[in-house]
Amino acid sequence: MLYHSTNNYQHTARLEQAVTRGLAPDGGLYIPDSLPRLPKAFLRNMSAMSLQEMAYAIIAFALKDDVPEDVLHDIVFSAFDFEIPLVKTAAGNHVLELFHGPTMAFKDVGTRFMARLLNHYRTRHPEWKTLNVLVPTSGDTGSAVANSFWRMPGVNVYVLYPRDAVNKIQKTQFATLGGNVTAIEVNGSYDDCKSLVEEAFMDSELNTVMRLTSAMSINYARLVPQMIYYFWAYTQLLREQKVNDLVFAIPCSNLGNLTSGLMAQQMGLPVKRFISVENQNNIFYNYVKTGVFTPKPTQYSIAPALDAGCPNNFARVVELLGSHENICRHIHAYSYDDNQIIETIRQTYRDERYLLDPHTAVAYRALAEDLQPGETGVALATAHPAKLKTLMEGIINESLILPAQLARFMGGKMHVVKMPNGFTAFKHLLLDNA
Ligand SMILES: *Cc1c(COP(=O)(O)O)cnc(C)c1O
Repeated sequence: MLYHSTNNYQHTARLEQAVTRGLAPDGGLYIPDSLPRLPKAFLRNMSAMSLQEMAYAIIAFALKDDVPEDVLHDIVFSAFDFEIPLVKTAAGNHVLELFHGPTMAFKDVGTRFMARLLNHYRTRHPEWKTLNVLVPTSGDTGSAVANSFWRMPGVNVYVLYPRDAVNKIQKTQFATLGGNVTAIEVNGSYDDCKSLVEEAFMDSELNTVMRLTSAMSINYARLVPQMIYYFWAYTQLLREQKVNDLVFAIPCSNLGNLTSGLMAQQMGLPVKRFISVENQNNIFYNYVKTGVFTPKPTQYSIAPALDAGCPNNFARVVELLGSHENICRHIHAYSYDDNQIIETIRQTYRDERYLLDPHTAVAYRALAEDLQPGETGVALATAHPAKLKTLMEGIINESLILPAQLARFMGGKMHVVKMPNGFTAFKHLLLDNA
């Protein structure tokens, strides 16, 4: 199968190039020329499969023969080795809990799959020597990416985070690892961290002496396994005979998870509509309402993983749906501010005894507002509430227990490199390690 750049249909690549480059040379995002449609009988039979079996069958179908069967089988089975429960709240809404992986955020599946696939390509390219993964983060991406590549021979990971904007629990998840993971504290904002990484990819000297790759959600390898979330929710509901008029509400930032949902739909999953939900960084919401896409500087909020002022995967959403009109047909958009997020968490905890994290809360609220009678709604829960422990305790006025998965990082020693916000310092740091 061929992949092309969202900037230019003529610029094509194979899966290996798309995944190892991340971004196309013209700055566009890779997307398959077409996604294959699953046979109807497959959809009906899916409910007899385990999560791992289903994931393998669908991903193998989506990637055709681009990855050897046994390699892909190992990658998928190890990336999907934890539960993804679909719970029903007291009000009868469904919540798909995507936070039971090693770092307790939904990104674990995508980053683990990508890390293993990149490692497969690395072993076929001895000339690369080391693969250097650069990742800017406001919290969740850095921890998921760092843990996915940790102790992988031949891979170095550089996590860049803004000095004042990442909470302690999330920081320990990548900064205590050490070994092949370097945590870099930048004296600047998340947008500054992102610019430093982008500059590194444009720097010809760096790119001749070392093999750089991006682990951001622009990497197609992160989007493919996330499709499974939607198929998995569908099969759980199939057992309850509730799959007609299925609606998914997704907490959105760079629109990677939404893109994966649209890809699942193109492969034949019957989804009636998606609900994209943002916080006050409501760039996509404004696009849906007005037809104009206007990136803005990122504003900090209490749902930090939703703080994106320029959603990376926007071009993929446009390409998959074609026009603004069609986007409005398939996606309803919502946006909530911090006060509304707090109100939703408190109310749901009080009335339903279900604790939403601030990211999940936006999706849960939008589902309640948007769902019509007869429809079945699923809100995607993207992070465990204890990841933002102090904040959550303040909101519900109760103390939370830190799950073992998060507590295990807390005793560790932090290894942090402090850096001014400037490209020269970053470049030297990379060259010194090359
Ligand atoms: C990354 C993240 C999101 C946003 O996902 P996108 O694919 O960037 O839209 C939502 N919630 C949490 C907890 C995240 O970590």
